Amino acid sequence: MAVTVNLFAMAQRQFDAAAERLGLDETMHELLRWPLREMQVTLPVRMDDGGTRIFRAFRVQYNDARGPCKGGIRFHPQENLDTIRALAAWMTWKTAVVDIPLGGAKGGVICNPKQMSERELERLSRAYVRRIGRVLGEDVDVPAPDVYTTAQIMAWMLDEYEVTHGGGHRPGMITGKPIPLGGSLGRTDATARGGCIVLREAATALGLDTQGASVAIQGFGNAGQYAALLAQELLGCKVIAVSDTSGGIVNEGGMAPELLIKHKLETGAVSGFPDAEPISNANLLELPVDILFVAALENAITEQNAPRIRARLSCELANGPQTPEADQIVHEKGIFFIPDCLANAGGVTASYFEMVQNQSSYYWTAERANEELDRKMTTAFHQVYECARAEKVHMRLAAHMIAVRRVAEAVRLRGWV
Ligand code: NAD
Repeated sequence: MAVTVNLFAMAQRQFDAAAERLGLDETMHELLRWPLREMQVTLPVRMDDGGTRIFRAFRVQYNDARGPCKGGIRFHPQENLDTIRALAAWMTWKTAVVDIPLGGAKGGVICNPKQMSERELERLSRAYVRRIGRVLGEDVDVPAPDVYTTAQIMAWMLDEYEVTHGGGHRPGMITGKPIPLGGSLGRTDATARGGCIVLREAATALGLDTQGASVAIQGFGNAGQYAALLAQELLGCKVIAVSDTSGGIVNEGGMAPELLIKHKLETGAVSGFPDAEPISNANLLELPVDILFVAALENAITEQNAPRIRARLSCELANGPQTPEADQIVHEKGIFFIPDCLANAGGVTASYFEMVQNQSSYYWTAERANEELDRKMTTAFHQVYECARAEKVHMRLAAHMIAVRRVAEAVRLRGWV
């Protein structure tokens, strides 16, 4: 039977473990256990058939002690407030782990974008900003794309925000924009690139040669596809298995990431790729590979399948893919996992670079953006790795300890507690 996990309860447990280890006092502990602000709204949206549909939507601002809140907006049929709270908490720890001057937030709309037309999506995006816009802004809370939201959606949201806030240009109020509207070069593949950078550092620390190392990727979407390309290009890895909701495929000899992406684009799925055998999503996670990218959704690795995970190194591009029980099991098996708040922090780091460029109106080359990303991610990896070794804890607990300490310090300096 599948394990269902309340993600916010899971995020609170992860936080509790770090807070207890740090010896946070009771008041600080209680403050950081909860979001500072939550907004729930109801959006009437005119549909193409002339009728009006009502959508429920959220924005959770978890903590802004270190800087303006930052976090994506998800369009998902199974969205709920607790998931958004968990993701907002993780954003807070993520921005602190990579030490960028931002807080954490997350937004979501309960909808199925696959069943909506482009015009309906535009009206929904604009309706979201009309309702939530009063708590957004470059110095307050800066959204970005997330699951099933795109650069085009960010463009509509930016336009709606500017029109409803005096008409001036405010490109820094949202990131993940198209390049002509103030987007940053390097943003599109930044999550996977950041993952590959920390993977490179982890492999070196563990004495694992990435040249020819076997890779399995669970979730062949935006993050997973770039991970395939960059793991091959930057680290010389061999992609032997990938999966999406249609199922998985495996070829021990390796598959060309460009051809996999082409096949997925043409057919909408990875299954059916020539010269590969089908494999179930569950079995892909349990392959004895050198490197596993977990790049789909939450709760992929739980206490049920954790005992069967056989990768040497796991890199969490997805948010919340592994439960606390599974953390312990995987750690005790000697599998080195790079936790989500470090492994996928390249995306928010690139978003921060986008905000910096928007503020100065001076735009970087892709090379500069990639170099700055490398510096940030490498530094963050080594801080977390050193903490994990010093404290004899797994990498998630170490990352949370560093993040919580930084946020608590900002809270204290502000005199909130
Ligand atoms: P996406 O929708 O582009 O891709 C997700 C992929 O996972 C899809 O191909 C889907 O078919 C597949 N999938 C879903 N359930 C699956 C299952 N059970 N087994 C195998 N495959 C499955 O989304 P994305 O932008 O690539 O994001 C993936 C994850 O990474 C999410 O958790 C997201 O929050 C996280 N993330 C993404 C970014 C980013 O910049 N894209 C940044 C930070 C975190």
